[in-house]
Amino acid sequence: MSTVEQSRHLATAIPGPRSSELIARKNAAVSRGVGTTMPVYAARAFGGIVEDVDGNRLIDLGSGIAVTTIGNASPRVVAAVSDQAANFTHTCFMVTPYAGYVAVAESLNRLTPGSEEKRSALFNSGSEAVENAVKIARSYTGKQAVVAFDHAYHGRTNLTMALTAKSMPYKHGFGPFAPEVYRAPLSYPFRDAEFGKELATDGELAARRAITVIDKQVGAANLAAVVIEPIQGEGGFIVPAEGFLPTLLAWCRANDVVFIADEVQTGFARTGAMFACEHEGIVPDLIVTAKGIADGMPLSAVTGRAEIMDAPHVSGLGGTYGGNPVACAAALATIETIEADGLVARAAQIESLMKDTLFRLQAEDDRIGDVRGRGAMIAVELVKAGTTEPDAELTRALCAAAHQAGVIVLSCGTFGNVLRFLPPLSISDELLREALDVLELILRDL
Ligand SMILES: *Cc1c(COP(=O)(O)O)cnc(C)c1O
Repeated sequence: MSTVEQSRHLATAIPGPRSSELIARKNAAVSRGVGTTMPVYAARAFGGIVEDVDGNRLIDLGSGIAVTTIGNASPRVVAAVSDQAANFTHTCFMVTPYAGYVAVAESLNRLTPGSEEKRSALFNSGSEAVENAVKIARSYTGKQAVVAFDHAYHGRTNLTMALTAKSMPYKHGFGPFAPEVYRAPLSYPFRDAEFGKELATDGELAARRAITVIDKQVGAANLAAVVIEPIQGEGGFIVPAEGFLPTLLAWCRANDVVFIADEVQTGFARTGAMFACEHEGIVPDLIVTAKGIADGMPLSAVTGRAEIMDAPHVSGLGGTYGGNPVACAAALATIETIEADGLVARAAQIESLMKDTLFRLQAEDDRIGDVRGRGAMIAVELVKAGTTEPDAELTRALCAAAHQAGVIVLSCGTFGNVLRFLPPLSISDELLREALDVLELILRDL
């Protein structure tokens, strides 16, 4: 078992000599299209710490982008993965099926919102699962159009690039994109406030604005599915105003449109609920999961009502690696860990600890325009002092200084001005407080 000491420690400059050597090798060997956030190379990770190849120990506020939610190299996962790998690593579920796949489907059907009869199908990546959710919705409705929202992120494959909103870096130069994809306005309370207090606080009103666009520019008769992140991830951790999601869902139900919740980033205890939809009390038709599902092993899923999930013809869904047995073993161990260790409640604790500090900072610093998010998915939106004008420069500088100080933080948002925190739920309160102290000092200096 990993024994990474749970303290921040800088043994060398960042990056140290071993990381610098790997950076040079990377630049010579890896396509430059594959960028990296951190200037250091990982050696080991556990709890709330990532240790690099030079012996620096960094506080992890990223979880590999919301993936190692239960903590890196989590003990039950390590055991389950090595046991499964010793038995068999692959047979292909479509050739010689195995129990792990079925058990993951049963768990997903049990854990996702809604008590109707459900089915699941497993894939490799979030993008692949979103694509399959669209295939299933088209098969079920016999319709073609798909609506996504402003600031949305659904992946980097061709169909999901079309669903994703932001051009640079995700889409620029990579078109043409899949047809029959349309975009509707989101509820973005911080920015909607510019257009009136009511729009910012009344989710139903914001939903009506979106529904009018959908109705007039697409038409329910052509629309197979609406795809939405219940809390947007890459788009800026945007929590829609209360009532937005239920109003949208009700319209979908009334119009034979499949409501697909993309919970790739928000799922598996991340937001202080097993799934973020639970905060709004909604039961989506289909729910897409990935990232936190298997503690870093590549796995994704689509889960939903049996009548929709069973619409595609036999052998219409699948893929060589989908629901790989080692990834399934990791998923079962991940779910067991969330339930046995009370990690949903831990995410809620992390929210209150982080928000206490961040709201205090906001009160003292008018460059912090907004503090938002749920559970261990918290963000601050940085603006030019006292305005709502995005400050991407400050965000970049803050991230770079944090990395130098041994704290892994990520930015996001359409305007590149959102600092996002995705700590693993295995992080200690002490490390979390220390990371926030570091950020506070940096912000004061900048
Ligand atoms: C990361 C992400 C995806 C894409 O997942 P990949 O595994 O990178 O293909 C899709 N939707 C959301 C909300 C995501 O955060």
